[in-house]
Amino acid sequence: MNKNFITCRVCSSNEYDLVSADVSGDQNASVYKCRDCDLVYLYPIMTEAEEKAFYEQEFEKYMEGRSGPGWESPQAHFASYQSEGERRLSLVSPFLSKDDSLLEIGSSTGYFLDDLSGYVKKVIGIEPSKAYREYALSRGIQTLEALSDLGDMKFDVIAIYYVLEHLRDPVEYLMNLKSFLNSGGRILIEVPNVQDILISKYDIPNFGPFYWQKVHYHIFSKDTLSDVVCRAGFGVEIFPEQRYDLSNHMVWMIEGRPGGMGRYSDIFSKELEVSYSEALKRHWVCDTIFAVVTKKD
Ligand SMILES: [Zn+2]
Repeated sequence: MNKNFITCRVCSSNEYDLVSADVSGDQNASVYKCRDCDLVYLYPIMTEAEEKAFYEQEFEKYMEGRSGPGWESPQAHFASYQSEGERRLSLVSPFLSKDDSLLEIGSSTGYFLDDLSGYVKKVIGIEPSKAYREYALSRGIQTLEALSDLGDMKFDVIAIYYVLEHLRDPVEYLMNLKSFLNSGGRILIEVPNVQDILISKYDIPNFGPFYWQKVHYHIFSKDTLSDVVCRAGFGVEIFPEQRYDLSNHMVWMIEGRPGGMGRYSDIFSKELEVSYSEALKRHWVCDTIFAVVTKKD
């Protein structure tokens, strides 16, 4: 690999530091941090043809391998993501109004749109997976295959959860979303936080090779996410969020593997969990960033 070709896809800088040469699912890729804009990015990334084939044929199997059961059938996925829908809802509900129309891009089996339908006037999903799309439709959740199927429809709110980190050009993508937003519209974004304490502080040998993945082209911090959103011409408010619990972190430390959620919940009190999560959020070493992005008219 000629290192002169390693380029930050957001600011075009060739100045970088190596973060990790160990990337799950790709022996040729490494993770770098841009010295100019601080963005953490993967290089090289899949070609557009490889990427298309991967998301059409392999993505669900890849996620099942990482996350365990829940990705094997649309029904099981919908059921196992109920608590995730509730978690999201508690964060987004202050930013919704009863008159809003809402589009979710990457709506999966529709579990989140199902929850949201009680809070807004209309929901529509975009989901490339045929099986998931058909399942959502069977539950009465309008779901289309691609943004191009929307025609000239516009929305008050667009939700994109765990999408931005998968994109070749997140700035261009956000700019293109403007044409689907009504005046005063908002985009709700969640992405993993690169400052997650499991990667930034705890130094668990098995965690890095799990965390850095071939499908995550950019891994944001609160500052680099703000930068990307501002480059696309939006305003932004950023909030810290913690998805994984203390048991999950302890199982990573003890056994070096995922899947520990709730393991010690009969011993840890609710207060302890909340206190731990609040401490991580206060120091911005939480696992997740939630952003409310506003269109500047
Ligand atoms: Zn950069």
